[in-house]
Amino acid sequence: MSGKKDKPAKIENNNADSDVPPTFYDKINDNISLNLMKLVELVLERYLLLKDIESLSQKKESIEEHIKINLPESIRWNKDNEAINNDMASHFLLALIMCKNESEMKWFIRQETKLYKARIDNHKKYNMYKILSILGVELSKFDFKKDNEEKLVNNILFRMQPTPKNPEAINIFFCKFEDALNLVPSHEFFLHKGNIYIPESDLHKLFMLVFQQKMEKTMSKIRTKTESIKKDRRIREIINIFEKEKDRISKEEAAKMEKEMPNDEKLRTMNDIDNCSERCFPLCMNLIERHINQYSHLTHFGRLQYTLFLKGAGLPVDEALKFFQKKYEKKTPLDKFEKEYAYNIRHSYGLEGKRVSYTPYTCEKIINMNAPMGRECHGCPYKTYSAENLRKILSTCNLSPLDIEEIMSKKKNNEYQLACVKYFEAKFPKIQGEGIGIHPNKYFSSAMKILKNINNNKTKKEENIKEDNTMDIEENN
Ligand code: SF4
Repeated sequence: MSGKKDKPAKIENNNADSDVPPTFYDKINDNISLNLMKLVELVLERYLLLKDIESLSQKKESIEEHIKINLPESIRWNKDNEAINNDMASHFLLALIMCKNESEMKWFIRQETKLYKARIDNHKKYNMYKILSILGVELSKFDFKKDNEEKLVNNILFRMQPTPKNPEAINIFFCKFEDALNLVPSHEFFLHKGNIYIPESDLHKLFMLVFQQKMEKTMSKIRTKTESIKKDRRIREIINIFEKEKDRISKEEAAKMEKEMPNDEKLRTMNDIDNCSERCFPLCMNLIERHINQYSHLTHFGRLQYTLFLKGAGLPVDEALKFFQKKYEKKTPLDKFEKEYAYNIRHSYGLEGKRVSYTPYTCEKIINMNAPMGRECHGCPYKTYSAENLRKILSTCNLSPLDIEEIMSKKKNNEYQLACVKYFEAKFPKIQGEGIGIHPNKYFSSAMKILKNINNNKTKKEENIKEDNTMDIEENN
């Protein structure tokens, strides 16, 4: 891929048939030629589209419908070779940018997979059987007449929703277990004698897994080549422009998140902090909270990291002032607190000095802060704590030994943001939170949403029980 100001080079569409998508992003095409500004524009456009996809899936809204209207014309597959070039160029460049850390790489793979699925779903004519065979999954058709295995057929049909009335009218395929290894834990399909059995209507699920695995492999390859690719001045230029824009977008997003956060998912008073810190704060913030409780003081960077997080979590400035004053009171008299600390807190809220409303730090920024010294407690604990100390801390967090081991293995591989994802999953099993390991405030808002849903469901259940009991009493009377 080059950043020359030439006309786009013609590329051969690998999959020229209209019943297969033109690209699986499994090969990097070296012949794509686009000018620099066009590339920047395409990468930003794609990044914003992936952000939209993330937010739609959080709200459980349809991605298919969204991209029918909002997929940029410049990358639509039904257009010409230029659009396919653009699509591949923006995909691979964004992949290159995102593979600088594990968490962003995973985020990119997740959103790209959802985007790909929506594109496939919108194109009704794609032939999943053919696509899977191109990707190396050899499927065979199950023959109801020849393979007279009634029990097997019943088991396959049992998993289908709704259960088909005329089983012989549906196509069932099977493939080797190794080709679909990831499907097995999801219990989606029936496993029998080393094969898994898949109804035709579910082939897209198998495809998505294969696609995701292929993407993970390609991303790992790109990652190993990142340094040499970045030696190209034009690529560095694109990355720099993109990073600045990304920073701007993330500030806007943080401000929007703060503004739109529902009241019952915010920290409204200083008392909410004590109630929420163990269950809803990421470990970095939870440890700052423990530190302030223990020492009645925070050094500059810890206070800044924490104040901005609390502000982003909706805590009003008056409550923030009350909170810090209360925590500091053992060691700091009120007049000293007013003189030395209150100004800084109001400053973080944009009420002093240049009156800039500062946004909470992202994980990337926190991870890259200077290592804490002495009594300092800022930074990301998965990075700053020694393995021994981290293990001790985790053992106080209500986690199972297995969860602790998994987090420790991420720490060992320097995968700090993935350690954070693991911590979240251990606290909220079977729930996937978006943006974990990317922004501490996203961790907080995901955790608050989950707790709110749990509480609402509990209240509904209690109300139903009450109603049932009342009806029983009335009937008995
Ligand atoms: S990954 Fe981010 S949210 Fe998680 S502990 Fe580190 S800095 Fe905090």
